[in-house]
Amino acid sequence: MKGKQVSQSRSKREVVSVVTGGAGFLGSHLVDLLLAKGHRVIVLDNLVTGTIANLEHHAGNSAFRFIKQDVTEYLFIDGPVDYVWHFASPASPVDYLELPIQTLKVGSLGTHKALGLAKHKGARFLLASTSEVYGDPEEHPQTESYWGRVNPVGPRGCYDEAKRFAEALTMAYHNYHGLETRIARIFNTYGPRMRLHDGRVVPNFIFQALRSKPLTVYGDGTQTRSLCYCSDLIEGVYRLMMRGDHLPVNLGNPHELSILDIARAIVDATGSKSRIVFRPLPKDDPKKRRPDISRARKLLHWEPAVDLATGLRQTIEWFKTRVR
Ligand code: UDP
Repeated sequence: MKGKQVSQSRSKREVVSVVTGGAGFLGSHLVDLLLAKGHRVIVLDNLVTGTIANLEHHAGNSAFRFIKQDVTEYLFIDGPVDYVWHFASPASPVDYLELPIQTLKVGSLGTHKALGLAKHKGARFLLASTSEVYGDPEEHPQTESYWGRVNPVGPRGCYDEAKRFAEALTMAYHNYHGLETRIARIFNTYGPRMRLHDGRVVPNFIFQALRSKPLTVYGDGTQTRSLCYCSDLIEGVYRLMMRGDHLPVNLGNPHELSILDIARAIVDATGSKSRIVFRPLPKDDPKKRRPDISRARKLLHWEPAVDLATGLRQTIEWFKTRVR
């Protein structure tokens, strides 16, 4: 009788999600979605690149809890946990150039702690991995079966190798411990809550355009990226956790643009009078990047729905309230 009561109360209790890096750009959008879906959400973040401002609209919500913690340290969470979403990491090339050791530590030690938490709780685990595991790719578009071309000792090595290690560790926990795991390879994503001085291409160009400063295109601007709006991306991440499998899945928007095209689109969308100027291309900057999302389409019935004009408009509106 007692056992029956326990299992009944378990089946009735709220679903609990732990989000590492939940105060960051993507992490905080994920927190919004999980709370909207009725999860109880515990955020772990050391606020090195994240900010509590991204979560302040949840203050007072009893389903939400914030713990300021470096996830490379032992993670202690009371009570049951159903899902661990591991989003903690610097993600802008500018950040991981400034924080190379923290980047390596959160990808390695932090992933180890987050996996350990999931194993201890019997929770399902999702790794926020990256298109950077493909490096400067020889295969285009990139499919999940491509092994990548990464320079381990170049400026991006700290991020790329940390994420490659994180994927390997996630697979090891799946294969050895039988943990239910997911690996999302996230391609370039943009939207509200990117920091003004994040250093990535979209916030840089919007900030420059709104301040009537020249837009700094690195190299000749022919390198390509494929930009996904944050709400699309988070929906893909959620579906992957709920109905995916343990093998990596590309999540991103296959609409490929040159950096010069992105600069022009942002000048147009802001109505700015900014000029475009050219600056040296950073070392090991990938020449092209476009996800092949066939696997996500088939497995998750997912594809991006927000076009660039709409996504940029929403992002620019948000930036306007912050750029003075
Ligand atoms: N980029 C640029 N101007 C900027 C910032 C970035 O031309 O002010 C370029 C950068 O060299 C790269 C692309 O935009 O080719 C995307 O850079 P980002 O830092 O957003 O991320 P990445 O995809 O390289 O990781």
